[in-house]
Amino acid sequence: MLKYTCPHCGKKTFNPLQKALCGNMTSNGRQCSECGGWCVNGKPALIAGTVLSLIGMAAILYTFFTFRTMRDVVIFGVIPMAATLILRFLFNMFFGKLIPRLKKI
Ligand SMILES: [Zn+2]
Repeated sequence: MLKYTCPHCGKKTFNPLQKALCGNMTSNGRQCSECGGWCVNGKPALIAGTVLSLIGMAAILYTFFTFRTMRDVVIFGVIPMAATLILRFLFNMFFGKLIPRLKKI
């Protein structure tokens, strides 16, 4: 099984799903099961997330101005939004590295 390395202790403690749940650099992240260090996805996840959000927003705006009925707006607005979220999640699962959490609580 594919595992990702914890940036704190160097052990492979995160599976793709756990890595995706770490969120990006602005999230709280998740704790390593080995050392308890908090981890988040690094810059590539943040950049991909931003780009995907922009594409999603553009798709929603485009839909808003091109479709006539409210139903179309809902259907074609929700699909790009859901697709954006799914793609971000998949990106975080399989791309980029984990880094120590930057945010202090
Ligand atoms: Zn660790």
